[in-house]
Amino acid sequence: MWRDRGTLQIGIDPRRAVALEGLGPAAAVISLLDGSRDREAVIATAQSCGVPADAASRVLTLLAVAGILDDFPAQLHRSMPDELRARLAPELATASLAYRDGDGGARTLARRRDAFVRVHGAGRTGANIATLLAAAGVGRVACSDPVPAEPGDLAPGGLLRTDLGEPRAEGAARAVKRAAPEAKTADFGAVPDLVILTSSYRSPDLTAGLQRDGVPHLAVRASEAIGVVGPLVLPGRSACLRCLDLRKTDADPAWPKVLAQATCASLRPEACGIVLAAMTATVAATQALAFIDQVLVPVAVNGTLEVVLPDWQWRRRTWPPHAACSCRSPGNRE
Ligand SMILES: [Zn+2]
Repeated sequence: MWRDRGTLQIGIDPRRAVALEGLGPAAAVISLLDGSRDREAVIATAQSCGVPADAASRVLTLLAVAGILDDFPAQLHRSMPDELRARLAPELATASLAYRDGDGGARTLARRRDAFVRVHGAGRTGANIATLLAAAGVGRVACSDPVPAEPGDLAPGGLLRTDLGEPRAEGAARAVKRAAPEAKTADFGAVPDLVILTSSYRSPDLTAGLQRDGVPHLAVRASEAIGVVGPLVLPGRSACLRCLDLRKTDADPAWPKVLAQATCASLRPEACGIVLAAMTATVAATQALAFIDQVLVPVAVNGTLEVVLPDWQWRRRTWPPHAACSCRSPGNRE
């Protein structure tokens, strides 16, 4: 947007926008910056449009000095099919602005493409998380859940009516393919970069195995009209799920008994409305992507993010490691 004859504003929200003075007619160079040309090609194309090389070069310098020039690798741009590039463009733009990485999201895209996430539990929350991650560019998203899909499992971002009666994991794999045809859904036995455990899939054996094998895992629960995302467990480096149970036992000595019975019980229907499922899945996806992108420490490490309906606000609870938990034993430390 032109603020006046000589000042170009890039961005609308004052928290992102930058105003550039003195661009003049050479501002046309900006329209050439779509990631398909390297610096020399931008200057050559500008020249063919009547903008002198030194003026074009000056525009690039102005943008770079203002911190708003993203140098997306032209080779990577060319290597992506048009449709995929167009679909991931909002992801790249978001990562680029949010992380200020200067490469147009290229590094984030590479991290996501190489990532393997396994989601245990493919009900309305789990399947939704899987589709969100695949749509955000995660290369392999496998679901584990043999239970046949019931009507209460269906969700706009997950299982469809045609999946009813089929194993939920298979319906979730089809949902992932709808969202991102290039994503891989097979669980080929490799160790995932991240495991997501939805509420009904937190068996002690599974979590103990993840802890022992050093596999990062994120707990997610949407039930009782409450959404909980976290903790994100980095084995040996942060509070584990048992640390949380030990803290809950400190506050309520009967907690282990309650937990044991809740693990065995089949709580149907869960009080997990479709909007609660979607918002919990979305927050879970933000934490999973924060972990994969490796720019910031996800806030679900040593904590949980929680919303208690009808409240609207997500709040963070801190859960430090528990001194009595074996996960912090010297043998487990890095
Ligand atoms: Zn622990």
